[in-house]
Amino acid sequence: QRGFDQKIDYVFKVVLIGDSAVGKSQLLSRFTRNEFNIDSKATIGVEFQTKTLFIDHKSVKAQIWDTAGQERYRAVTSAYYRGAVGAMLVYDITKRQSFDHVAKWLEELRGHADKNIVIMLVGNKSDLASLRAVPIEDAKEFAQRESLFFMETSALEATNVESAFLTVVTEIYRVIS
Ligand code: GDP
Ligand code: MG
Repeated sequence: QRGFDQKIDYVFKVVLIGDSAVGKSQLLSRFTRNEFNIDSKATIGVEFQTKTLFIDHKSVKAQIWDTAGQERYRAVTSAYYRGAVGAMLVYDITKRQSFDHVAKWLEELRGHADKNIVIMLVGNKSDLASLRAVPIEDAKEFAQRESLFFMETSALEATNVESAFLTVVTEIYRVIS
């Protein structure tokens, strides 16, 4: 690492979207701080968090935006999507409804964001396998049909979280460079 005078070659805005309580905020804190907060209310009020990655000897700052709970009222504004070049569209593998809403989120995302946006469909809470309500095949099929990347993650157990964000950031880099 190059310390305080670190030069940043790229900044990519990535947005987290999906129903309330699917684990968006926990995925973000797991990725940026390697933390899982039992009391998740603790992180409210922060618009985005950043993490700098190195790809191809270039420093890439991922600026990852989280909602402050406004998704509960379907009130995510266009400012939230503005300038986003990546998105993590999250559902909960134990909540069928959160997967059924993915198509709506995708429509809203595509209506607001850059047309070349890189999208990862994320099935979170893979640690709760015994409560699974969304077969992995359903999600894979949807992702394939819509040309999305797809991964199941667990913010709790830190499974695939790094990998999901890295895939998105690397793909954005590949698209723009
Ligand atoms: P958000 O509303 O989408 O931001 O969801 P939160 O990140 O606030 O998480 C909602 C609830 O799900 C909280 O009680 C979290 O502790 C829990 N949660 C989040 N991620 C996971 C996970 O990977 N596994 C399990 N078992 N619970 C999770
Ligand atoms: Mg949240």
